[in-house]
Amino acid sequence: MTTFAELNLAPDILAAIRDVGYEQPSPIQEQTIPLLLEGRDVMGQAQTGSGKTAAFGLPLLQYVDPSENEVQALVLTPTRELCIQVTQALRAYGARKGVDVVAVFGGAPIRSQQAQLRAGGQVVVGTVGRVKDLISRHSLMLHAARFVVLDEADEMLDLGFLEDVEKILALTPGSRQTALFSATMPGEIRRLAEQYLLDPVTVKVKNPTLTVDTVEQFGLEAKGPEKVEALVKILESERPEQAIVFVRTKIRCEQLFRTLRDKGMDVRALHGDMTQGARDGVMISFKSGRLPVLVATDVAARGLDISGVTHVINYDVPTSPDVYVHRIGRTGRVGRSGRAITMYESRQKRDMEAIERHTGVAMAPWAPGAHVAALPVTPKPRRHSKPHVPADGDGRVVKLIAAGGRAEGIEPRDVIQAITAATGLDGEAVRNVRVLERFAFLEVPEAELDRVLEHANGADVRGHELRLELARG
Ligand code: AMP
Repeated sequence: MTTFAELNLAPDILAAIRDVGYEQPSPIQEQTIPLLLEGRDVMGQAQTGSGKTAAFGLPLLQYVDPSENEVQALVLTPTRELCIQVTQALRAYGARKGVDVVAVFGGAPIRSQQAQLRAGGQVVVGTVGRVKDLISRHSLMLHAARFVVLDEADEMLDLGFLEDVEKILALTPGSRQTALFSATMPGEIRRLAEQYLLDPVTVKVKNPTLTVDTVEQFGLEAKGPEKVEALVKILESERPEQAIVFVRTKIRCEQLFRTLRDKGMDVRALHGDMTQGARDGVMISFKSGRLPVLVATDVAARGLDISGVTHVINYDVPTSPDVYVHRIGRTGRVGRSGRAITMYESRQKRDMEAIERHTGVAMAPWAPGAHVAALPVTPKPRRHSKPHVPADGDGRVVKLIAAGGRAEGIEPRDVIQAITAATGLDGEAVRNVRVLERFAFLEVPEAELDRVLEHANGADVRGHELRLELARG
């Protein structure tokens, strides 16, 4: 097994890799890094989640001279979200070396980006439109950009940016080194590569469904009007650390977000009709792990790497098997496992079969507690889960709702402690505690209900009075 040190990376880059905690190169990194360090042009077929950012980012940063205040490397991305994500990664990888990475993307004030460019910046990561704009304002000079990366080129193509990409490439030195990454390689992308890459080496991650292999996949048939309830059931039963719920359109995204919010869930929406500021806010709280559930459209969530995502829920069946792979690629990141649940209506069975043929993996029917045994998956410990123990007596449990939640700093163990201390019950009698923003759900054996209501009501939880009620339904 290759180590990062064997890839000829410089000590300051290796130290940064240690800082971010990568132990060994992913396959795309192992193949790409030596080629780029040799100066070859590379065409990489890899999805988000493969580790492609470090595959091009580490050699790029190794090239850059931090004492020279010129733009020495340019990374073009199709979307602002990817732009921000790549910038954050490159900043981390280049931190030890002191490389200045500037992000330029639309929807944010151009002036502050101009100021950052004036202040220096050896690496620019930008969306196509904003890069073009800054060039035309003479704020961005590319004559010294010896290293150019086109990230997610197929997305640029889909978004109609190819012509602009070519214009930008024409302004960079002919002697530059170019790397192109794309999840798929349609004809237009191959032509672009033929024209702008010099004798490129093609690098593929062996199995294009690699990310999919680490994801347990389920399907759940639900009629349109029953979908919300089915989703709530999934969320309650799966208790994801972080979930992305994908919907087909911006309007459905907004509607579903409101419905879930009105049910008291800690959820936000991400779609293209939101202002840039609102989108950034959502992204920041999701990436930091504070936000457990994100309802998103495909475009808004394109290419996002959210390493904490344990669940992808397709509220709407993806429009194509490729979109499916893209969506579920947000979970089961390098070396981790995830769960993907796709809801479908009976008339969409054919779409589901097409997806299964594409991935080569059959989706098991989802049911509460369902696991797929056949896949090589090690389920991650869930942060909020309690071991399941048989219920007392006739096994019936009742669900309670408690006022007070995350907003009050309450965690599941606080609720359990408060109740066990007040009632003398065993900790395992209090189950399935799920803390939301302003309240918490929990279950207790029906046989103990009176005792819990009588003794635990009014108990102290982190300075708040515990108030319990029977949950409806
Ligand atoms: P990317 O495909 O570049 O978006 O990377 C996907 C995720 O994998 C990111 O969260 C990276 O931080 C992480 N990652 C990249 N390379 C490695 C590695 N060699 N070991 C562990 N995690 C990695």
